Amino acid sequence: SAMTDIVTVNPATGDPLASYGSMDDRAISLSLETVAAAQPDWARRSLRARVDRLAELANVLERRRVEFATLITTEMGKRLVESLAEIDKCVATCRYYVEHAEEIFTPHDAEGPGSRNQIRLEPLGTILAIMPWNFPFWQVIRFAVPALLVGNGVLIKHAPNTTGCALAIETAMIEAEMEGIARALVVDPAVVPTTVERLINHDAIGAVTFTGSTPAGAAVAAVAGRAVKKSVLELGGSDPFVVLDDCDLEQAVSAAVASRFGNCGQSCLAAKRFIVHKRIADEFTTRFVESVSALRVGDPFDEASDLGPMARDDLRDALCSQVLRSVDLGAEMLVGQTDPSDRPGWWQQPIVLSGGERDRLMPAMAEETFGPAAIIAVVDHDDRAVELANDTPYGLAASIWSSDVERALSVGRRVQSGALFINRAVASDARLPFGGVRRSGYGRELGTVGAHEFANVRPLVID
Ligand code: NAP
Repeated sequence: SAMTDIVTVNPATGDPLASYGSMDDRAISLSLETVAAAQPDWARRSLRARVDRLAELANVLERRRVEFATLITTEMGKRLVESLAEIDKCVATCRYYVEHAEEIFTPHDAEGPGSRNQIRLEPLGTILAIMPWNFPFWQVIRFAVPALLVGNGVLIKHAPNTTGCALAIETAMIEAEMEGIARALVVDPAVVPTTVERLINHDAIGAVTFTGSTPAGAAVAAVAGRAVKKSVLELGGSDPFVVLDDCDLEQAVSAAVASRFGNCGQSCLAAKRFIVHKRIADEFTTRFVESVSALRVGDPFDEASDLGPMARDDLRDALCSQVLRSVDLGAEMLVGQTDPSDRPGWWQQPIVLSGGERDRLMPAMAEETFGPAAIIAVVDHDDRAVELANDTPYGLAASIWSSDVERALSVGRRVQSGALFINRAVASDARLPFGGVRRSGYGRELGTVGAHEFANVRPLVID
């Protein structure tokens, strides 16, 4: 059947940006075969030789920083300063692994039954990466850098609305002399599930990594499971932000606003549910509402803007539907409105809801809200805060606020999450593993643990 081209759209204007011809089955197979053919030679090179290429990738990203950041903002609408920060984080992460390559990737001696015992990291082959649009460079780089250093090849199926970013990452890889080791696919969305299934079943694919929504991740993992191939799933989140009555409110409020409304609310690890102790609930709510009311929605290239547009119209519609259904169930809208804006583009004013505890079935409490909408729930006891924090299918991260660290820990330890932050907003960091529990997925990225996910950890015993 005929392939449909992918047309990217500027979310700030609604205008088309570019049209990309979708690859047919043959072109997709050819890309996979190219990576599969280049990978063994890449794996045979010394670690030092691979490190040199990744160091060069950092230089390329740094050199083309403004160009790439502009592309991110144009394709998915985040503020330019956020796009620049995204590229900077990619550069820093490349350099982190370059600097620590020796300790993280080289074989090390171990105790064992032989006269010599060693643990080696060997590649799994070509890793298929299925990626979302919300951090279009960072999501790819954070997985790809350690996967490449282990000696794997990389095949990227990016989100259609950031196809330009996908191809830009490929050009950066080529410029860093990794031609053929990392390739991007342009896949007609209509045939994504069947194409992904065919790729996963191909002998050259050693494992698959998926970042995106929980249902799509489950579908991909089911295919990988049938093929007995490893998968890593970085899925949705509905992170709790627990504000206890003895915390520094000013710090808590400013972290809360930044965490929820950064990236226009489109972040897996954004704080989404604000669980606040009754004694300080009024004050927290007043200050939070005041800060959110002051946020300026506007041109993402303008430094005076706090929020750009949302990435797609359907995402805006989905968020507004969650908000309206929550209001139907009794939530109060303290800030914001859901009417579409008159200007073209996918604009959404920030929203604050209250009343979450009265009905935990409200979509803003029970589901992941992927956009600029916060909900505040009031609790009268630490145990109730724990209960409500866990009252979600997700378990990505949690942020707990109290001037008594022991108290915060006693709450935080009982919250089910992949990461726990005390008196700090959640953020990923190259030095620390990142990933979820429950419906937020499994496996880790980053740190040393994340760097070993796509390796055959192979003991060598010599007598
Ligand atoms: P999405 O709709 O699940 O799409 C993610 C990727 O999966 C896209 O490339 C998409 O391609 C592909 N895809 C969708 N259905 C598929 C299927 N059945 N088989 C194979 N591939 C499929 O997610 P999104 O809207 O782009 O991203 C937002 C979600 O990502 C949120 O839930 C967010 O929390 C999560 N996220 C998680 C993390 C984390 O680290 N845990 C990080 C960022 C984002 P097509 O669009 O072409 O179908």
